[in-house]
Amino acid sequence: MAPATAGQVWAHVGQPFKAAGWDVLVLGAGRMGTAVTLFLRDLRPEWRVLLVEEGGLPNEDGATILAPGLWTLAGLPEDRHAEAQWGRAQLEGRFGGAGGQARTLLSLGQDGEEDTGALLTRHPELTGMVDPAGAPRAAVHEAFTYRPGALALAAGQAAVRAGADLLLNTRASLIPGGACLERLTVTNTHQIVTHETHEVQAPQVVVALGAAGPHATEHGLGVHTRHARAYRQTPRLNVPTSDTTPVLHAAGLTLRPQSGGVTIIPPVHHRDPHGYAPQGGQLTGVPTGLRRETLEDLVSALEVLPALGTDALETGRSLADVPGAWLALPHGDPAGLPWHGEVAPGVHLLLGGPQADTLGLSTAYRLAAQLAGVALPEGWAPAVSPR
Ligand code: ADP
Repeated sequence: MAPATAGQVWAHVGQPFKAAGWDVLVLGAGRMGTAVTLFLRDLRPEWRVLLVEEGGLPNEDGATILAPGLWTLAGLPEDRHAEAQWGRAQLEGRFGGAGGQARTLLSLGQDGEEDTGALLTRHPELTGMVDPAGAPRAAVHEAFTYRPGALALAAGQAAVRAGADLLLNTRASLIPGGACLERLTVTNTHQIVTHETHEVQAPQVVVALGAAGPHATEHGLGVHTRHARAYRQTPRLNVPTSDTTPVLHAAGLTLRPQSGGVTIIPPVHHRDPHGYAPQGGQLTGVPTGLRRETLEDLVSALEVLPALGTDALETGRSLADVPGAWLALPHGDPAGLPWHGEVAPGVHLLLGGPQADTLGLSTAYRLAAQLAGVALPEGWAPAVSPR
């Protein structure tokens, strides 16, 4: 087959944009939007696809760049294992540059086949972090860690090389039959303003706007969904780790070794109500950058993870000090798996959310396969729930 001609990229408003006849518009270039664009180019090379993103690739404000990048089968329904394994094979193969690494995941608690103390002797770097008396038993799982931001960048670049068009710095909203695209620019007083607006029609639109997706369908098309969002912070714990340090699950927290330290991933307890503005809570009267729910989670994990009670934990002084992002919650469920569904004729909502590290790529592929009329790979559960 002859190599595809690369698509066009509009990075800034100096590059004149003219609407062409696209078959599919993909809105949002996080990991879900970039992946579905690439898979559409793979499956239907004759279709023209435009990928639109409000920021750059990858956007600093999206959920993708701060996602833990922790692939694991632990806790996943059995009928989704085959596609999770497919996703991992993609991560190790096609997206091998996304910093992938096989690691052990230790789930610490009261049950499990292994003795926590004995496991710790194999990982001396964990001895200062974990008190085995608080979690005497452990279960050992296989895991794989990678950088979701690098994955989105690689998928976006591969999609453009394969012929997809990419429109950056452009805010999209839904209109019947297509999207309204506002090309943004920055004034010399650092204000973001709309430079020009285009209305583009297409037979199929994929809404991959992350946490903003459900609201966008409601606002633009009047389609109400049960999906929701939550603000998740991922504070840093400065304890030494290496490429072989295991990932820990303990007291509801996940501790992901990263860049020589640890990123803490707190649980998502519930959806945040519409209009919720994240704010830092106080710890013994001192303002921090961590939201109250997360502070409570950290305090209640101290028995198992005494390192959280030391200066190694970066609590920050205000919200801006702690990395955090809005996550989509498919079906409003903190444990919701990545999902896609046709919410209006020709409009497909694609949501990653908290489990996108494991099932995000395969869910993007499911949607691409459905649009392209191609069968799913063998062994995959037939379809994700329609709503
Ligand atoms: P996901 O895991 O679903 O890919 P992200 O939050 O990482 O979630 O990605 C969503 C992307 O959509 C982000 O890069 C964000 O900048 C982009 N986005 C959000 N709202 C808009 C919008 N109105 N127009 C264009 N892009 C948007």
